[in-house]
Amino acid sequence: MNNLASRFFCVLPARLRNYYYYHMGGSIAFPEVIHIESTNICNASCIICPREKLSRKTGIMDFGLFSKIIDECVPRKEVKELHLNGFGECLLDKKLIEKIRYAKEKGIRRAYFVTNASLLNDSIARGLVCSGLDSLKISIYGFGKDVYEKIHKGLDFEATTGNILNLIKVRKELKSSSPQIKIQFLPLSDNIEERQKFLDFWSSKIDKRCNDRVEEFCAHNWVDGRKYNNPVARDGRKSCGFPFFGIQILWDGSVALCCYDFNAKLRAGDIKKETISAIWNSSHYNSVRKIHREADFAKLPLCGQCDQLREGG
Ligand code: SF4
Repeated sequence: MNNLASRFFCVLPARLRNYYYYHMGGSIAFPEVIHIESTNICNASCIICPREKLSRKTGIMDFGLFSKIIDECVPRKEVKELHLNGFGECLLDKKLIEKIRYAKEKGIRRAYFVTNASLLNDSIARGLVCSGLDSLKISIYGFGKDVYEKIHKGLDFEATTGNILNLIKVRKELKSSSPQIKIQFLPLSDNIEERQKFLDFWSSKIDKRCNDRVEEFCAHNWVDGRKYNNPVARDGRKSCGFPFFGIQILWDGSVALCCYDFNAKLRAGDIKKETISAIWNSSHYNSVRKIHREADFAKLPLCGQCDQLREGG
């Protein structure tokens, strides 16, 4: 698809775009959602995250590489959103706020990231509110101290809760409606009894005028990292859709298939040597899309064992 057609295509409603992806063999000329891994280092050892299986080198993306990526994205109308996550705690990146500000000032439409909020102190809260960040998701999977600290090993319940409440307060004090705050709960056998108390408490603390939300998500397997779900029990599985709209750039510039591929078993290129456009339109990436479109996952075992494939129908 040429650039003009690709831009037109991006303003179509999601249902029409999906029809095009799956039934007409299409893909757009540039990804809509750019995932950039600020860092794959983390300050916690949460039970849901297969951090003990991480075998790739750890680090933080340098500002020069980040700005190169943003500079390529800015003129591309296809780009709808920037996610600053991969497999790590974003707030360990001391330049995160500077990076968000750079992306937003250059014209990126939406910037978003997920955090455990353990490092979200008052100074960072003020920096984030003033950075232009559009949305922030906070993973907090316990209501009481014991459950929280059993799930989020290495973190402190009072510190995290205090940081979240302070962020809500600071945003109000600075008379800002952004970032939108999403408080995320993940039902697990360890915390299910606390679920309602959690939902009631955080629903009473968020600010709905800022479009804040309390959300629930399902635990997933990180491909082969955990075993919450049985992916092969589903019949007629279909693509998760990610290779048609999103790209995952890791902290060192290499491109993985998606954020669930936490060890980057499938590498699609290197942003230090190639452009996003070249990688996205490469024969390698197109062959991955073909497999997804035809649901021929035996040819791509990484995806074949993933619980994010959709059920058929
Ligand atoms: S099937 Fe799983 S591993 Fe493959 S692209 Fe989708 S989410 Fe990633």
